[in-house]
Amino acid sequence: ASVNGYIGRFAPTPSGHLHFGSLLAALASYLDARQNNGQWLLRIEDLDTPRNQPGADQHILQTLDAFGLHWDNTVIWQSQRLEQYQAVLDDWLQRDLAFFCDCSRQDLKAFAGVYPGTCRQRQLAPDPGHAIRVRVDDRLISATDRLQQTLQVRLSTDPGDFVVRRRDGIIAYQLAVVIDDVAQGITDIVRGADLLDSTPRQIWLYHLLKAPVPRYLHIPLLLQADGDKLSKRLGATPIAADQAPATLFRALHTLAQQPPAELARAPISELLDWAIANWQPQHLPAAPQFNEMYTTRR
Ligand code: GLU
Repeated sequence: ASVNGYIGRFAPTPSGHLHFGSLLAALASYLDARQNNGQWLLRIEDLDTPRNQPGADQHILQTLDAFGLHWDNTVIWQSQRLEQYQAVLDDWLQRDLAFFCDCSRQDLKAFAGVYPGTCRQRQLAPDPGHAIRVRVDDRLISATDRLQQTLQVRLSTDPGDFVVRRRDGIIAYQLAVVIDDVAQGITDIVRGADLLDSTPRQIWLYHLLKAPVPRYLHIPLLLQADGDKLSKRLGATPIAADQAPATLFRALHTLAQQPPAELARAPISELLDWAIANWQPQHLPAAPQFNEMYTTRR
């Protein structure tokens, strides 16, 4: 463990190369961990196998390295941890905290993403072709954040009992991310605000695992000039490692950290030293920066 107990992480999905938006998430979580003398762990979230792009994981590791974002301990690949996820599912099924569901997408279409509880009391027999859903209750869940407004959600209203293992057998992101953050002792999650929406469901899973909920810092999303989220899917260009210092300087600016102009040509180690010492997440913008615009749009 670190001196003061802070353990942070970056958890990219290898569905494509690291792009500028994901570099911002990596950099913000790195700076926050290092400023707190914490550890910074790296986990590759490669469970959604159809979305994995061959070689993307190695490219992500190399790019982080080229940017001086060095992680602690060994990298974890979620694909190596299927037994751990299954063990939790078996436990929850046995305790009736989760249940099998054979509803198709078509069956659920009319309910606009809110599960109507169809299979809740059916006691369906185990079947690898069924989804597994976790039961939620009526309590109000408050997701507090160091930057964003507190989000209050009653999961029973939306989205209802939610999927933790998909019908195709793939472990859902919501389940794997929480099991791993608990297993790795993560105290602080710094990630993009596109995941704000998932946080109440994840808090519910922390309760089921009887694990302490981490602190959250959701950084505003970087949007393209046309208002679309900058993402791999939209073809945001992968970042080039050979221009690391200039890109890092720009990333710090985009995170509203105002590195001094003298550092514009500084090597990455010098830039990172400055950024760790001067990291002020409360300066993160809610207004346009350069040609890029931030929002916490869901
Ligand atoms: N793997 C997720 C993604 O790349 C991030 C998970 C997280 O930070 O909670 O979008």
